[in-house]
Amino acid sequence: LVSRKKKSEDTVINVNGELIGQGKPSFVFGPCAVESYEQVAAVAASIKAKGEKLIRGGAYKPRTSPYDFQGLGLEGLKILKRVSEEYGLAVITEIVTPSHLEEALDYIDVIQIGARNMQNFELLKAAGAANKPVLLKRGLAATIDEFIHAAEYIMSKGNENIILCERGIRTYEKATRNTLDISAVPILKQETHLPVFVDVTHSTGRRDLLLPCAKAAIAIGADGVMAEVHPDPSVALSDSQQQMDIPTFDAFYETLQNFMKNYEIH
Ligand code: PEP
Ligand code: MN
Repeated sequence: LVSRKKKSEDTVINVNGELIGQGKPSFVFGPCAVESYEQVAAVAASIKAKGEKLIRGGAYKPRTSPYDFQGLGLEGLKILKRVSEEYGLAVITEIVTPSHLEEALDYIDVIQIGARNMQNFELLKAAGAANKPVLLKRGLAATIDEFIHAAEYIMSKGNENIILCERGIRTYEKATRNTLDISAVPILKQETHLPVFVDVTHSTGRRDLLLPCAKAAIAIGADGVMAEVHPDPSVALSDSQQQMDIPTFDAFYETLQNFMKNYEIH
């Protein structure tokens, strides 16, 4: 169902008036984790000022260690909902288990399925039966074929609004947190009719690489870029090494807008 052979036109997904996959890159910014109303609102104000329509933030955090911050859960979803109403932004947030999904749907606009759950088939099926778009991340060590099959699970249950998100894969390279597989973008665009995003934060794990990798993503034809922004990354409860503070975010965004103008991407 997700194959280009099945449908030749690009799938376009309307989220809060943002037409994802229609040609011009979309942007998803926001903190790694929801920590407080004030924290999310500070990032939302900056996103709104740029005329962007989407915000991300994790309420359920799939952390490597059980002793690390696990997220605010339902309280986090309530914060996201309040901020989304106050700032007119659509919320993209990760859901980690089918048992949270139904309740979460009242608070969110796009269901994110994280890298660690790309082959959580019960979660894929549950998201496939939900009436909200899904942003599906590539698994930590998933092949492109496995990634496409995960999307197929979602669509097989009736949900056609799926965004694929390349977020780096595990290789022997230690200079970056993961290895951004930039060629996955045109391959996924050729093989499927779905919009393809690149998460520059989790793929690189390095603040100094966010901008060059975002440029590469746009130049190679990605439909969107995701990056994490926190009002004060030094005190962030997760991913403090790689989130942008607001002035850095402003400069990142402006440079990318100029880059798109120069290359006539609009
Ligand atoms: C995230 O986007 O919050 C996240 C945890 O990313 P990933 O699933 O790609 O590791
Ligand atoms: Mn993160």
